[in-house]
Amino acid sequence: MPKIKGSHTAMKSGIIAAETINFHFEHGDNLSVYEKLFKKSWLYKELFKARNVKPSFSWGLILGIIFTGIDQIFFRGKLPFTLKHKHADHETFGSANEMPKIEYPKPDNIITFDKTSSVYLTGTNHTDNQPVHLKLKDPNLPINYTLEKFDEPAQRYCPAGVYEVQKENDINKFVINAQNCIHCKTCDIKEPSQNIIWVTPEGGGGPKYGNM
Ligand code: SF4
Repeated sequence: MPKIKGSHTAMKSGIIAAETINFHFEHGDNLSVYEKLFKKSWLYKELFKARNVKPSFSWGLILGIIFTGIDQIFFRGKLPFTLKHKHADHETFGSANEMPKIEYPKPDNIITFDKTSSVYLTGTNHTDNQPVHLKLKDPNLPINYTLEKFDEPAQRYCPAGVYEVQKENDINKFVINAQNCIHCKTCDIKEPSQNIIWVTPEGGGGPKYGNM
């Protein structure tokens, strides 16, 4: 969170997972050794140090910045308590009829761009025949409940336009364009009924930003 990125932590957690599997084949230990290896690594230290940063921003931007400065600069993440989020993210949704409608301006092609070209830049790729990695616990929920109550927010929060509500013969249909997914996992976290499950896709399909 303080670095506003996490690619290095994601890579390290993958490396520890690979080491755990290797350990399992060599010594036959069960895979729970992952937690021990994780806690011994720099990854744990770095994430533990940053644990209070995001929750402190629930007090507001100014207080969050002040607290984070004290926590990170003076105490270096060693304050003897851990702040908690009061709600899971998906619990904070208001119903569509209580919330203002936001009209997003069209991309200006200078600092904002359309979703399709931004998705292309991620270099994410799925082979045609791989199993769909976005699952619905209840396939009827998006149309029968989420559309009416929340105006199906997946249409807007997904940065890649994966989810659409299309009309076919006057009947609403929830469409998942899984091949466009850029693996941010927002839907898994944000869906108000926790109905969308993001499972790990096949292969190393990206994102692969060319200049990173
Ligand atoms: S993980 Fe979910 S929200 Fe993110 S791009 Fe894929 S479908 Fe969209």
